[in-house]
Amino acid sequence: MKSLVLPTVKFTEEQNEFRKEVRQFLKDEEAKGSFERTCDTWLNGYSEEFSKKIGAKGLIGMTWPKEYGGQERSMIERYIVTEEFLAAGAPVALHWIADRQSGPLFLRYGTEEQKQYFLPKIAKGECYFSIGLSEPNSGSDLASVSTRAEKTEGGWILNGSKTWTSGAHHSNYMITLCRTSPQDPNNRHAGLSQLVVDLSAPGVTIQPIQYLTGAPHFNEVFFESVFIPDDRVVGEIGNGWKQGMAELAFERSGPERILSTFPLLDEMIEIFKENKDENGLKEATKLLARMWSLRSMSIGVAKMLEEGEEVGIIAALVKNMGTEFEQSVPEIARLLISCQPRLDGESRFERFMAQSILHAPGFTLRGGTTEILNGIVAKGVVNS
Ligand SMILES: Cc1cc2nc3c(=O)[nH]c(=O)nc-3n(C[C@H](O)[C@H](O)[C@H](O)COP(=O)(O)OP(=O)(O)OC[C@H]3O[C@@H](n4cnc5c(N)ncnc54)[C@H](O)[C@@H]3O)c2cc1C
Repeated sequence: MKSLVLPTVKFTEEQNEFRKEVRQFLKDEEAKGSFERTCDTWLNGYSEEFSKKIGAKGLIGMTWPKEYGGQERSMIERYIVTEEFLAAGAPVALHWIADRQSGPLFLRYGTEEQKQYFLPKIAKGECYFSIGLSEPNSGSDLASVSTRAEKTEGGWILNGSKTWTSGAHHSNYMITLCRTSPQDPNNRHAGLSQLVVDLSAPGVTIQPIQYLTGAPHFNEVFFESVFIPDDRVVGEIGNGWKQGMAELAFERSGPERILSTFPLLDEMIEIFKENKDENGLKEATKLLARMWSLRSMSIGVAKMLEEGEEVGIIAALVKNMGTEFEQSVPEIARLLISCQPRLDGESRFERFMAQSILHAPGFTLRGGTTEILNGIVAKGVVNS
């Protein structure tokens, strides 16, 4: 069996200085009231003003070429920024998908016109994307998607629907996986394509679905004869499966798979310190040790992505272990500190507990379920 080798990353002095700057910026913004610290903000913290502010600071699309609005910084520097945003519980959901995967998708497969049109807007924090994969009858088995596009003069006519689309009600565009030729029983992955759907186009209907918290979060999105111009096809017609899978590697291994409940963990440690609770601190140390190991793995994957290496299997492994960790934080907190979790609770701990408990079931579903990712890891091990 092949062993797992991940690069070790040691932050440079410059990178540590950069982290301090980002942390100070976030502290100042929180103190100014720009945001209220919350758990799981990469999926639920929406603020156009804040997204534009950090876009103006050059903290979105930061690894992209300068000609497309990027900063040509390293994946490790991007990792530092995303980690600090999550740890601070800052509202980053609006631009998160575009920064993490739609932008890199355009860079890899997009036309020059698409890069010039979309990337600078994304980097400014003023253009938002959502992920159009899941459908009412296709979740884990994505190759079975039935949303279809048929060729017409100058473009494609799209019909079908997507579901569980995070943030579609706030987004400008959706990268939509759809069928552009009939299913081939000998190759289930053939005939799929990725189209950029303008969510304000005629024929698009967006219906929000309430999250467990009661807030609108994800959506059902219906397409009724929506015209998609030829220049809004991403990459090649028929290559959608391969492109979509490459996109998922960016999606699965980042700090957002470890830190969704970090504000709760941090608050819990503060309470233990205040109460000089030795046992509580001992339990928190165990969580921190787990977090530290996962973080090292996740940073190793960021390095591999930078070097253009294949990360599919290790990203799946990190996602599974990371999301299990995120879910365990409220479970352990519940056993150590007695409280009545409430979204409108008076203390931060009560609020963070309620947010974490209500969001946690989704951690191991979004971005691919634990069972599916275990399958990817198992197949990878068998084939190695
Ligand atoms: C918070 C949240 C946000 C989301 N955001 C988006 C989004 O923005 N865009 C988007 O496209 N989707 C999104 N999703 C949908 C998500 O990707 C799907 O829920 C997920 O892929 C599972 O699909 P499903 O819900 O259809 O479940 P199913 O595929 O029906 O699976 C049901 C259960 O069966 C298990 N299962 C299925 N097949 C197998 C198998 N072969 N072997 C073993 N077990 C199996 C699964 O693990 C699961 O436990 C989001 C989901 C959540 C929870």
